[in-house]
Amino acid sequence: MKITILTLFPEMFNGFKENSIIKRALNKGIVTIDIINIRDYTKDRYGRVDTPPIGGGAGLIMKCQPIVDAIKSVSSNKTHKIILSPKGEKYCQNKAVQLSKLEDILIVCGHYEGIDERVNNFIDESISIGDYVLTGGEIASMAIADSLIRLLDGAITNSSLSEETFENNLLEYPQYTEPKEFEGYKVPDILYTGNHEAIEKYRRKEALKITKIYRPDMFEKHVLTKQDLKLLKEIDNKIENPKWLEQALEKGKKFTK
Ligand code: SAM
Repeated sequence: MKITILTLFPEMFNGFKENSIIKRALNKGIVTIDIINIRDYTKDRYGRVDTPPIGGGAGLIMKCQPIVDAIKSVSSNKTHKIILSPKGEKYCQNKAVQLSKLEDILIVCGHYEGIDERVNNFIDESISIGDYVLTGGEIASMAIADSLIRLLDGAITNSSLSEETFENNLLEYPQYTEPKEFEGYKVPDILYTGNHEAIEKYRRKEALKITKIYRPDMFEKHVLTKQDLKLLKEIDNKIENPKWLEQALEKGKKFTK
């Protein structure tokens, strides 16, 4: 996969490219990440890339010309072009899976008060990473690139992806490490039994439980199996409820039926 990121702050990506799984994916040739400085494309005689908005208002708006010239110069007809904006479609794991199948992606990062509206005519879609406003699109572009790269073949082991949060509209079950007891908090005994079927059932039940409590919207979309229904009955009977669940229930977090 080729990812091209257009930004006014290329240095922000140094750490991103030089660490952990992203660095390994780059070294293995699974992905290339080209960081393009929008400023290099300005034709303004004073080198400006932004000006106050026409009609008045706060801050500076990034101008069309440098961004559109940069897009034209580093992309082709096959490039999927994304602009980052809090007004865009909200990003989610399904979208990450969809985008990870593309070969060539370009991401435009806004900054300051945003980007001249007309740039939208030169891109394919607008994405928001959540309902909050960042100072610029750089962190958003890293979040998106990171979520795509880890889905690429060879970036991480496939088994790490199979039971993750958002798979089949369930949050991932809780995970533990040694020691068995830490400051009075214990690893559930079942995880030491070696009984894979029982462990799988326990984990499924935990996944159903936490999704039901914390993400009822997601739980609504989850297609229940016969075993899920059985497990849910046990949950509703409050069998094996941990302290945190009781506390959540006391605070008014409710199960949805
Ligand atoms: N004035 C704009 C508005 O109210 O919609 C916000 C501009 S924001 C301060 C500057 C840039 O940060 C945006 O152009 C966009 O590229 C990026 N940005 C901010 N929040 C974002 C979000 N939630 N998702 C994606 N990009 C975001």
